[in-house]
Amino acid sequence: MKNTIVGFPRVGKLRELKFISEKYFRGEVDVEELKQVAKELREEHWNYQRSSGIQLIPSNDFSFYDGVLDMAVLLNVIPKKYQQLQLSETDTYFAMARGYQGEAGDVPALAMKKWFNTNYHYMVPEIEEDTEIKLTGKKPFDEYAEAKQLGIQTKPVLVGPFTFLKLAKYQGNKKAIDFAEDIAKAYGEVVQKFESLGAEWIQFDEPALVQDLTAEDLNLFRVLYNKILSFKENTKVLLQTYFGDLRDYYKEITALGFNGFGLDFLEGKQSFSLIQKYGFPEGKVLFAGLVNGKNIWKSNYAKVLETLEELKKYAGEIVLSTSCSLLHVPYTLQNETSLNPEVEQYFAFALEKLQELRELSVLTETDDYQVEKEYLENKELYAKERLYQNDTVKQQVADLKEEDFVRLPKRSERRKLQKEALNLPLFPTTTIGSFPQTIAVKKNRTAYRKGEIDKKTYDNRVYEFIKDCIKKQEEIGIDVLVHGEYERNDMVEFFGENLQGYVFTEKAWVQSYGTRCVKPPIIFGDVKRSRSITTDYLKYAQSLTNKPVKGMLTGPVTILNWSFPREDISLKEMAYQIGIAIREEVLELEKAGIKIIQIDEAALKEKLPIRKADWYSEYLNWAIPAFRLCHSSVKPETQIHTHMCYSEFNAIIKDIDNMDADVISFEASRSKLTILDAIQESNFETEVGPGVYDIHSPRVPSVEEIVEALHRMLEKIPENKLWVNPDCGLKTRGIPETEASLTNLVEAAIKLRKQYEG
Ligand code: GLN
Ligand code: ZN
Repeated sequence: MKNTIVGFPRVGKLRELKFISEKYFRGEVDVEELKQVAKELREEHWNYQRSSGIQLIPSNDFSFYDGVLDMAVLLNVIPKKYQQLQLSETDTYFAMARGYQGEAGDVPALAMKKWFNTNYHYMVPEIEEDTEIKLTGKKPFDEYAEAKQLGIQTKPVLVGPFTFLKLAKYQGNKKAIDFAEDIAKAYGEVVQKFESLGAEWIQFDEPALVQDLTAEDLNLFRVLYNKILSFKENTKVLLQTYFGDLRDYYKEITALGFNGFGLDFLEGKQSFSLIQKYGFPEGKVLFAGLVNGKNIWKSNYAKVLETLEELKKYAGEIVLSTSCSLLHVPYTLQNETSLNPEVEQYFAFALEKLQELRELSVLTETDDYQVEKEYLENKELYAKERLYQNDTVKQQVADLKEEDFVRLPKRSERRKLQKEALNLPLFPTTTIGSFPQTIAVKKNRTAYRKGEIDKKTYDNRVYEFIKDCIKKQEEIGIDVLVHGEYERNDMVEFFGENLQGYVFTEKAWVQSYGTRCVKPPIIFGDVKRSRSITTDYLKYAQSLTNKPVKGMLTGPVTILNWSFPREDISLKEMAYQIGIAIREEVLELEKAGIKIIQIDEAALKEKLPIRKADWYSEYLNWAIPAFRLCHSSVKPETQIHTHMCYSEFNAIIKDIDNMDADVISFEASRSKLTILDAIQESNFETEVGPGVYDIHSPRVPSVEEIVEALHRMLEKIPENKLWVNPDCGLKTRGIPETEASLTNLVEAAIKLRKQYEG
């Protein structure tokens, strides 16, 4: 059986592309040097695949910043504001990616958005009224030729026109369908060009097909591809989908004139049953996405091979593939020096997945794979007892009862008790948790990491930072203080490090956007809180002041969503295990005298299923309870806060309210104020702190503008339910602008109080 991958990561094993790009941004290397490193990386990646025995190797999966942005440039979708800068081709591209501020002008970057249900972000193309979509660039052809020179016949990969148009933002009155003809022609020319270059396959990525679509959308898809496919002669076109299944459109889509269909059998829960129900079109090739492109576990060979056996009954030709691009997993285990071998044996990152694809391909060709060594070894691995199993935790989850998820008395009752206990003014002021992580803060952490100082010295310095932070907040006059989060650099890693069952990597970076990479920890076994995590810091902070200091924890759903999850138990089970751990910490904080506790759920929405039909059954039905689990047993007087980094939760506003927190803070820039309407209309019970200024910029907001923002909020939110706070943590900011901004924020709240209280 042949094999392929949907795409390969591009930042480099040791993030070479990130570092050279950043050097280029700083003007330390020229464009030639940048391009040279990129070329070497492509060659290296192709060679890995060739030597691993991958037969259909992708090209054009490389990108300097993002594949959707590459497509925009290839199709001449370059907004005028960038063209007017008259920069070189490369610099125009980076201006769109990162914004430009310099002699030629001052233009912000294109918007950036989450790529479906991943933590990867793409640049949102902006199509203007008079944008003329046409084939202008040659990146895919150049990269195809480059590989060919190395003796590799590749499968060029492009984001498809449907997904491109669905993700784009339209600046004028024209809609996607109005650009259909032009874009189809451009893609048709791409097909023609590859015909002439001798490509055997081209892959069009259309993940937008796994979303809920309207009849209009399907029409658009048909219009596009009827035209594009009419350009093809010998080159075969693969329609690649991922992150879900085709569901209601399976029959219609697979009836179209593509030569192959790439289906995801992992996240596409119905892919298999759709084939059983409707069959697979004759003469077409099934690209079976069975090796997980999103998680770091070795495949379970028995499962994959059984599925393939079954699929053979329906499809004449099958190519074994990954469920999605390997972009979403780290490069290789080779650079991990401290993983326990007992743990490591379960993992396969991108390079190791290439080996798996080869082994699996070979196994499909043997007479009886069940007697082969590779098969048996894999089977044995999956049969044996794993490290870090914890029966106590398993039992605790099994024993959870209805009341573990219900906080009493109900919120309106608690409010009265909290008002009395906390005695806060109208429009209480607070922050989201972190304060600027200065060089001194980072130095302290690095010194401790490197073993240059011991835990005691490290903590003593953290206590110093906390002391300064409390003093500053008192001087500024904030009502609910925080300790500043100096002990953590990452809101998930820090908790993971204090929980049993978690493992950490050294070099397992995954691209999040452009040059930014993240290194998610791995949930390997049962999660158990083994020690107190934040209490000492909070106790100390509270001892310094008479004002309430807000405890600061990360919630179970966010911890889960920003980790690589297990595959042997459900997400729900993991969320509940983490929930129990956080609950222990919450109760310990409460016992230590902390009266307000914030449980951040910055990533609550991250894994909301793509299809609405799955929202509750697959996600919200346990994600919301997992949060409630953390705080259901605190005293009525203890006030629970939560925070989210976005305000686009109109669609799940009831569920957010059902988290049953007492207060929620979130980002609420001017453009996103529709959330206030939703809050009003839904009779939202939770008190709210819509961010009054944007912390992502060093700009200091004036008192007037904060007052104005608050007035706007007060049109929709009752005065006794409004909090005053920035829109996110302050850790990436500098001290001067932070102090200036918070001073203005407090002054604005005082002004407003005077107006309301007379
Ligand atoms: N409490 C965290 C902080 O202030 C929240 C971070 C976040 O929302 N991403 O940094
Ligand atoms: Zn935030």
